[in-house]
Amino acid sequence: MTLVIGLTGGIGSGKTAVSDRFENLDITIADADIAARTVVEPGTEALTKISSHFGDDILCPDGSLNRPAMRNIVFADKSQRRWLESVTVPAILAELRQILDNAKSPYAMLMLSSGNGQSPWIDRHLVVDVPVEVQIERVMSRDSNTREQIEAIIQSQLSREQRLTYADDIIRNDTGLEQLDIEIKKLHQRYLKLAADAS
Ligand code: ATP
Repeated sequence: MTLVIGLTGGIGSGKTAVSDRFENLDITIADADIAARTVVEPGTEALTKISSHFGDDILCPDGSLNRPAMRNIVFADKSQRRWLESVTVPAILAELRQILDNAKSPYAMLMLSSGNGQSPWIDRHLVVDVPVEVQIERVMSRDSNTREQIEAIIQSQLSREQRLTYADDIIRNDTGLEQLDIEIKKLHQRYLKLAADAS
């Protein structure tokens, strides 16, 4: 089986900047956020179940899932949240597993933006680490969120320290993008070697 590198980090730490660079090196990326959207696209089994359960009001006029409406329902009602997860989580896992199984690259990456960063499929953890102040500044200049909203999201996520306890490799991403390119190239060489040794 392909060596799987787990890629995690807090909001705005630079996971996408990192995964884009590995993707440019032709490494397969299984992104849990993307999978969560893919499995509820129009025509999917999950979206059919969701619209039967909540009614067609949960759909936008174009037939796609009305995400803000869905969020409001599950935010207010835990049992509905559990029901939704019972439909979406197995579909997301199947989607991610398929991407990893079809990977043609010497190793693959599983990118987890939320949750505890753990998965039995991960062989080695890569954590993108930046000081909280850098997270806040970068997200404020990327999105229209307020400082308070970003701080609340950071509070709801694992702390820097918690992430670093399970890290096998760490990218300190508070320097510029040139330094990031250098770090990625080094890690790529390391992972190629690990993948070759494991096969
Ligand atoms: P999220 O958790 O919200 O999905 P993320 O961890 O994927 O975020 P990115 O979107 O990759 O983070 O990065 C956040 C912002 O910081 C982006 O605007 C990105 O371009 C910028 N950024 C990332 N790394 C660097 C860097 N080394 N130097 C300068 N800017 C950076």
